[in-house]
Amino acid sequence: MEKNKYVYLFSEGDASMKNLLGGKGANLAEMTSLGIPVPQGFTVTTEACNKYYDDGKVIAQEVIDQIYGKMAELETISGKKFGSTESPLLVSVRSGARASMPGMMDTILNLGLNDETVEAMAKLTGNPRFAYDSYRRFIQMFADVVMDVEKRTFEEIMDKMKEEKGVKLDTDLDADDLKKLVALFKEHYKKEKGEEFPSDPKMQLIESVTAVFRSWDNPRAIVYRRLNDIPSSWGTAVNVQEMVFGNKGETSGTGVAFSRNPSTGEKKIFAEYLMNAQGEDVVAGIRTPEPIEKLEQDMPEIYNQFVNIVNTLENHYRDMQDMEFTIEEGKLYFLQTRNGKRTAQAALKIAVNLVEEEMLSKEEAILKVDPKQLDSLLHPAFDSAKLKSATPIAKGLPASPGAACGKICFTAEEAKERHEKGEKVVLVRLETSPEDIEGMIAAEGILTVRGGMTSHAAVVARGMGTCCVAGCGELKVNEEKKTMEVGGKVYGSEDYISIDGTTGNIYGEAIGTVEPEITGYFGTFMAWADEIRVLKVRTNADTPRDAAQAVKFGAEGIGLCRTEHMFFAEDRIAAVREMILAKNEEQRRKALDKLLPMQREDFAGIYEAMEGRPVTIRFLDPPLHEFLPTEVEDMEALAKEMGLTFEEIKTTVESLHEFNPMMGHRGCRLAVSYPEIAEMQTRAVIEAAIEVKQNKGLDIVPEIMIPLVGEIKELKFVKDVVVKTAKEVMAEKGVELQYQVGTMIEIPRAALTADEIAKEAEFFSFGTNDLTQMTFGFSRDDAAKFLADYYEKKIYEFDPFAKLDQTGVGQLVKMAAEKGKVTRPNIKLGICGEHGGDPSSVEFCHNVGLNYVSCSPFRVPVARLAAAQAQVNNKR
Ligand code: ADP
Ligand code: MG
Ligand code: MG
Repeated sequence: MEKNKYVYLFSEGDASMKNLLGGKGANLAEMTSLGIPVPQGFTVTTEACNKYYDDGKVIAQEVIDQIYGKMAELETISGKKFGSTESPLLVSVRSGARASMPGMMDTILNLGLNDETVEAMAKLTGNPRFAYDSYRRFIQMFADVVMDVEKRTFEEIMDKMKEEKGVKLDTDLDADDLKKLVALFKEHYKKEKGEEFPSDPKMQLIESVTAVFRSWDNPRAIVYRRLNDIPSSWGTAVNVQEMVFGNKGETSGTGVAFSRNPSTGEKKIFAEYLMNAQGEDVVAGIRTPEPIEKLEQDMPEIYNQFVNIVNTLENHYRDMQDMEFTIEEGKLYFLQTRNGKRTAQAALKIAVNLVEEEMLSKEEAILKVDPKQLDSLLHPAFDSAKLKSATPIAKGLPASPGAACGKICFTAEEAKERHEKGEKVVLVRLETSPEDIEGMIAAEGILTVRGGMTSHAAVVARGMGTCCVAGCGELKVNEEKKTMEVGGKVYGSEDYISIDGTTGNIYGEAIGTVEPEITGYFGTFMAWADEIRVLKVRTNADTPRDAAQAVKFGAEGIGLCRTEHMFFAEDRIAAVREMILAKNEEQRRKALDKLLPMQREDFAGIYEAMEGRPVTIRFLDPPLHEFLPTEVEDMEALAKEMGLTFEEIKTTVESLHEFNPMMGHRGCRLAVSYPEIAEMQTRAVIEAAIEVKQNKGLDIVPEIMIPLVGEIKELKFVKDVVVKTAKEVMAEKGVELQYQVGTMIEIPRAALTADEIAKEAEFFSFGTNDLTQMTFGFSRDDAAKFLADYYEKKIYEFDPFAKLDQTGVGQLVKMAAEKGKVTRPNIKLGICGEHGGDPSSVEFCHNVGLNYVSCSPFRVPVARLAAAQAQVNNKR
């Protein structure tokens, strides 16, 4: 093999070369080797893209030479010549990264056209309309993608022409119109760029390849990558492919197909197409496409061939395929296949069905669902009783299931802004485009006037698990005036609507929602995940309600119960403040005595909700000033309540002020200063356990967790208080109870000395929120302000508070786990930071040998699946 081979013919690659050729390129190669009719071409590799960036954003001569070399081979294969006026070879230039990034980078079609070759095409095909239609599309795409002349400005010229002619559809323009349009387009280009539209096909080609490389770093692509954990180092490949034409007349067309329904998972081909159209037309929602059943009537032979290829591809890839096809004058071509994006419901049904059809093993099926997708199933659906009494005001296509309710937003920016202010919004657009991505993320749901089931809005919404209703033509939306009119009624930005992505119904009112359940395919699938995984999944829950929800979602215990959350409750805060304001131990004990029964009740409630599953209770953690008021009026009120002077309150508040409260008097440091707090909490934990044992017959082994330990002696000090108190309680009650005392590892010093700490700690729970903040040295409450600059400058590619920094913080986790095991081989290891519900972090926890992850109740199913996938991918 050549040493630096940057370009591969489709016939030189296969599906296993995804990293090098990108997903699209590898699959075009694979389809070629399967004998499926694919227009031939070549792929410029992701390595060439990386080289482009390494070389300071220039394309190397070496790469250019190899491209020309493969172009010469393509000429031989096709029997046509690039740039020739006899039989011109036209190509498309298509981006294609390792993971599919729909709509993120743009494709150029019909490349190779200029004033001479277009005439040759017209003559050769006897179809000047087609030739000029292709040419005007090329100018538009090239100008937009390569030269940054907005597509919209060309569309305006075209719309003006249609208006003058009094026609509606692009297909109503004839050859002469299109010829004129080409002249107008070129004129417009020259005005914008100050130079002629480039006529040399070779230059067009290299400029386009370079533009695809460049687009890897456009802001939309960067946002999408961060959202989907795609590192920038992957780069994108570029595919150069001979054109086939769906816009040659009424025996030509183009379409999109799924081998199963991407919305429901039903085992039935789902496809849409448009006759006399090219590539983007179906997806762009310019005309509403035909269902594939019409092809069966109009071109039965083509239809049969189409069905055969679809089945071949699904069987070959053993997964639901998303395909693009084009019919050129009665001949069928496939232009793309990939494992199709699907809704969470569809993903589960397909995964279970593929196992039932014996196409996949359970282990393989487990990998077919993206854990993050489950999220969409765990959120509320419309309350069916309330839904019954509501009448839809319109109906669109059920493009992405789920229920959404919110106020109307007519632009993506507005959706983003109002969402940030805490409003729930539904994004209503004529159609969406990739620029709308951030608004689409912010919205509860998306509603479009134009476009089909495969429109941009539909594809992106399904990917994100956001509810979407598309193509609702009944709505008259005026994006500028911010109004939506339907059935004689006008709705504005302050009005609520509700949309149902499962039925396509739209309601002109707010409709309440209900909690989800794990049943049916979801239940079967999750049971398989549980069979496979070895990593346990617990939940972070502070109330019996959260605990019960988490159990429903499959939690196997509580990994973190934060006791301070209970302290903030209205009926307790007074006692908490009394404790803080106490002048001596005696007064403090009096206040603590008031808190004891309340805490005991809380813990008993949680133990009951967990039905005997393990519960880890963390002792008081936050700095005490958090419990005191800061406003003058509130301090005055408190003074009155406590029978103190305003000055006394103010002095205490001021004395508790800290410059760095996150690194201040908190965690176990509180128990060191005031051991009576730990005494009270121990009492509550043990008494509650004895109570539920005696009353409900539940055997609880409470796990008492001491936070913010950095030194073994401080842990030992607090532990001694706990042990002494527990002994007293048991003696009083005459009951023996098992319990454990462990610690959080959330200070780097604790991780560094984990072997010592393990002498006292029966378990470690990695508090990766604090551990991340202490390791990076920036506070998680302030980091958001500057992390944006870090993403932009590519210093960080993700938020270390959402996704565990495996190279830094992760090393501390790994090391502490190992050291802990040396001292205490059966030490229990878990994680309770935000990261416990992030799939890639869960995999890391599995790999470093933790026993469990703990996450918020709604992340529990996500973590269960991520843990099963970790086991399949890295057996332990
Ligand atoms: P995306 O990744 O956004 O789908 P694609 O590269 O797949 O972009 O191309 C956009 C559209 O152009 C698709 O509908 C595709 O089928 C069509 N297309 C791409 N290359 C060709 C070609 N050589 N001949 C005909 N149509 C093409
Ligand atoms: Mg495509
Ligand atoms: Mg902490």
